[in-house]
Amino acid sequence: MRSYEGRWDHRRLTCREVSHQVSTYLDDCLPIHTQIRMTLHLAACGHCRTYVKQVGFVQQTLLLLPKQNPAPINQDLLRRRFSSLHT
Ligand SMILES: [Zn+2]
Repeated sequence: MRSYEGRWDHRRLTCREVSHQVSTYLDDCLPIHTQIRMTLHLAACGHCRTYVKQVGFVQQTLLLLPKQNPAPINQDLLRRRFSSLHT
């Protein structure tokens, strides 16, 4: 009989792991076992609870902003400036 014990990660999530997955958590897109681990971590860690609330607040606030697309010439200018800063 095959053992599936190793397929599930039973470790507690670290605060760093929580911070890396918070957007996916808030979007409700984590695998169920990771979501459970996240929920358990948040139940025990006030710092991460605060962080998750702050990220959720920012997400909700950004959704309230009007949708605006810059003109194509400005999109190109922004793209070139971004590339020059990050190459
Ligand atoms: Zn934490």
